Amino acid sequence: MCDLASGCWLWTGPTTKKGYGDAGHVFNLGPNLAHRITYMLLVGPLARGHALDHLCRTPLCVRPDHLEPVSDEVNTRRMLAAMRRQRAWQQVGQIIRLILYPSLPTDSWVG
Ligand SMILES: [Zn+2]
Repeated sequence: MCDLASGCWLWTGPTTKKGYGDAGHVFNLGPNLAHRITYMLLVGPLARGHALDHLCRTPLCVRPDHLEPVSDEVNTRRMLAAMRRQRAWQQVGQIIRLILYPSLPTDSWVG
């Protein structure tokens, strides 16, 4: 399925616990990440010790030009940086809610 807004090709089959597409059963390979399979089919082999970073930040996306092969170290560093940015934006959201709605109980905050 293609998401028209982002251009992502979204996997609609089974997923892994981490939210990635699991295409292994389609190709009778056992568990195997859908984005890795589409990348290898449409682009080529992935170097050993490399992961595919979703540049679109959409784990179900299998579009090869939304994926960048990076070393496992770089992939981990990028993932941690993305988590820090997400936490920072959540804190900004909480501050804005506190300014706009000071009487709203903080346990009703989401995110
Ligand atoms: Zn994408």
